[in-house]
Amino acid sequence: MNNRWEELDKQYLWHPFTQMQGWCENEQLVIERAQGVKLIDVQGKEYYDGVSSLWVNLHGHRHPTLDAAIKAQLDKVAHTTMLGLINQPASEYAKRLVEVLPKGLTKVFYSDDGSTAVEVALKMAFQYWQHKGQTSKQKFIALANAYHGDTIGTVSVGGIDLFHRVFKPMLFTSKYVPSPSCYHCHLVPENEKSQCGQVCLQQLEAVLKEHHQELAGMIIEPLVQAAAGMLTQPKGYLKAVRELTKKYNVLLIADEVATGFGRTGKMFACMHEDVTPDMITLSKGITGGYMPLAVTATTEEIYQAFLGAPTEYKTFYHGHSYTGNPLACAAAIASLDVFAEENVLENLQPKIEVLRQGLEKFKSYRFIGEIRQCGTIVGIELMLDKAQKTPFPPEKLMGGGVCQKAREYGLIIRNIGDVVILMLPLAATSEDIVKVLEMLDKAFQDVFADITGENYSDPCAF
Ligand SMILES: *Cc1c(COP(=O)(O)O)cnc(C)c1O
Repeated sequence: MNNRWEELDKQYLWHPFTQMQGWCENEQLVIERAQGVKLIDVQGKEYYDGVSSLWVNLHGHRHPTLDAAIKAQLDKVAHTTMLGLINQPASEYAKRLVEVLPKGLTKVFYSDDGSTAVEVALKMAFQYWQHKGQTSKQKFIALANAYHGDTIGTVSVGGIDLFHRVFKPMLFTSKYVPSPSCYHCHLVPENEKSQCGQVCLQQLEAVLKEHHQELAGMIIEPLVQAAAGMLTQPKGYLKAVRELTKKYNVLLIADEVATGFGRTGKMFACMHEDVTPDMITLSKGITGGYMPLAVTATTEEIYQAFLGAPTEYKTFYHGHSYTGNPLACAAAIASLDVFAEENVLENLQPKIEVLRQGLEKFKSYRFIGEIRQCGTIVGIELMLDKAQKTPFPPEKLMGGGVCQKAREYGLIIRNIGDVVILMLPLAATSEDIVKVLEMLDKAFQDVFADITGENYSDPCAF
């Protein structure tokens, strides 16, 4: 055992999404502090934060604007309730957020994490139709491979078998439509992959046509299904989904917990296709990665349907203890300040290009099946045989092996199965991106050399 914290951790803690047996058997890293886009361990060793502390950090760690905003708020009050009281940062942030949201989303409901934001959206959509007198509209459409959180409601619209199958008896049933990720689309033959979006839309329309009277809403991760392994959608798909859901009177919930706040190159993924959903769910990046906070934002139309006298019982009976926490809202305001003051989105565009060009090199690698990129979001899928799309046997733990190697070179990343995920903070510079890709390249070379038993020189030579 390395140190006191590792000892305490292994004695007392149970980590999320973690097989604790393997965790306790292996040496683990203890992070003590961070600066900018780097994490620093108890030995003083620095690592790039290659997954933005699980997709939350935007402007780097210890950003002076965010640090100062939280300290200033702490000198006033850390927390007061929003049940019956107003707090200043919560009001201020709601206004600031509406200014940058897709047009038409004007009402902000706070909660504390991505899962609760989605729970709120599902319950709000359900209750909306009850108020509208269309009481049979109770079910939801979700995409295959969807991930919307880990609570019972969000798992009920989830489609990742590995995480979700054990809980099946606890869940409500949803309707699933195929996910339009061309690489993984099994609906059309290989030489007609460009049709995959169209075929998926036809299937969606068939479900809407037959079931719209029982459908409250459709939930989608716009542009990229993140936890599925960064599965990207064909251009135009989201817009077509918006048109179809409108046509069949089904609410569209855009879950931008992962894609929101600049990750895709625009403030929100929906903006790439000029889409305004009926609800948007936000969390991860909302406070720049500083504090837990979430928002479910919706339209005037939905908000209005809940208005009435107390005894009409149209109230939305949902809320959490820390809803609208002032420290978190202060951080969220400061994050929007940084977006404006540092021209974050504008400066991001050339960096996205540097990333795209840097990734080109990996395309020729024998064991890299597909590289998916959406703005700053990257998924690199490892394959035993990319022509046949044969995966590695799971017990090889290829994705995990690459991430373990990357650590030795000073890069912290996490895999999802055999998809290696890279999602640097927006603040990473072009130089950072180039360095990180070099570290990743070394990790690939080491791991690939191990499996071929040959020394690695030319990536195309395997
Ligand atoms: C991470 C994530 C969630 C869940 O957010 P938590 O804060 O982990 O509860 C929901 N939806 C999407 C798209 C996510 O990526």
